[in-house]
Amino acid sequence: MNDLSGPELIKLREQSANVIDKIDKQLHEKRGTRKIPCGYCNYKNNTIKNLTFVQTMWYTQPHGCMGGDHWNQGDYGFYCLKCSGFNCLNFNHPYEKNLDPYNRQNVFKRLYRDCFKKIVREYDDFLAPRTGAADDISEQYRSARKFNNSYVDKVMKIW
Ligand SMILES: [Zn+2]
Repeated sequence: MNDLSGPELIKLREQSANVIDKIDKQLHEKRGTRKIPCGYCNYKNNTIKNLTFVQTMWYTQPHGCMGGDHWNQGDYGFYCLKCSGFNCLNFNHPYEKNLDPYNRQNVFKRLYRDCFKKIVREYDDFLAPRTGAADDISEQYRSARKFNNSYVDKVMKIW
């Protein structure tokens, strides 16, 4: 067995980091080409890299002396390219052995969010105070037909 000196070891580590980097980029591109059928019209060509990733936010009212008055992360979703309906991605099924629904939702977000065309937040609570454009809700979201889509949860393997 060869002993590796410092510079050789550093070089090998750089090379392996480059390989991992390259594979990560390929995976990222591949994820962007995956499709999620619409839960309403069943349109099959909702390719992730052409979709808007929507993060909904819900509001906790003020309570007690110090509590509440803050926004929380809600669901993820996207608009169908054909019918413009809002597909709310459901993660209800403890499908994979070591991954509870909440974890699956987080894994999906971590791996896929940046593969979408763009990312927006929708502050979905009419009771919440509005302090500016950043915590408002878009006309597209407000007027969209909304329904649940369990495709990612039930069918799509997350990788
Ligand atoms: Zn649709």
